[in-house]
Amino acid sequence: MTQPNNSRIAWFNGKFLPENQVLISFRDRGWRYGDGAFDMTRTFHGRPFRLKEHIDRFYRSLRYLRLDPGVSPQELIDISEQIVARNEHLRAAAGDWWIGQRVSRGVDPIGDEAPEHKGPNVVVECTPLPLKARARQYRDGFSVWTPAQRRIAPDMLSPRAKTHNYLNMIVAEQSVKAHDPDGWALLLDVNGNLAEGIGCNVFVVRDGKLHTPSEQYVLPGISRQMTLDLAHKLSIAVIEGNIDLFDAANADEMFLTSTSLCIAGVRRFNGAAVGDGRTPGPVTQRLIDAYIAEVGCDFVKQYLDRLS
Ligand code: PMP
Repeated sequence: MTQPNNSRIAWFNGKFLPENQVLISFRDRGWRYGDGAFDMTRTFHGRPFRLKEHIDRFYRSLRYLRLDPGVSPQELIDISEQIVARNEHLRAAAGDWWIGQRVSRGVDPIGDEAPEHKGPNVVVECTPLPLKARARQYRDGFSVWTPAQRRIAPDMLSPRAKTHNYLNMIVAEQSVKAHDPDGWALLLDVNGNLAEGIGCNVFVVRDGKLHTPSEQYVLPGISRQMTLDLAHKLSIAVIEGNIDLFDAANADEMFLTSTSLCIAGVRRFNGAAVGDGRTPGPVTQRLIDAYIAEVGCDFVKQYLDRLS
């Protein structure tokens, strides 16, 4: 594991700064209550992936939280592009970037004292993708488990918002990691159907058709949408709706999507082989090939190149 590189440049409340100078008060509501939202995209050879779509989703999360960041979506797109440009000289070592936009509600008055910084805290930053950490899973296929904890119900806190509060999924992930350190948690929704993982959506292939949980119960992933767009192009039928444990046990193929994973084949589901155990399966492979062509970056090779 390499040492953290603090010479990266981030944007914080109107200024470009070395990221170790981005200092947020311990009284910030994001830290105290998880009262904030974020979004993350990635770069492919330095080019941000569907940046506008990520920023649009970010503003939907912010609107849901009634949080005005004080900058427009276009400004945030421009700042994100600048972050990539200003850190370009560090990209070769990183491989490619995760680019994060983060807004917290800021600091409340302390008794009758006014806080030093009024209003939200806004950060745009980039970090290296965990290419090496995940390389083995791209070679061997992902092992996915459904933990006891259900994904939080939409009438409690909408999973469609990408908020700074991931505790529901963190607690679920811990119980999975306790018995399979390389395992990925895939939470069920309140009705017992597949929902999503800590940072990913899920797809199942049965009889050549793609199935994925409907948006109501999950974050509408930008890579989920990319996969739906590619399926449409490749004339692969898609069904958005309930996938229960019986459907999952009978899947021919299964894969995860996220902006960093892109498309990642699942080899084992709750300890049993998915389909005939080949990962990725043929439909997944067609989608991976189309994804690679669309983004102009062989993301599978990028992960596998980091196998030690
Ligand atoms: N669900 C959750 C809970 C996530 O955190 C993520 C990662 N942003 C996803 C799904 C996948 O979304 P995307 O494809 O936009 O990365």
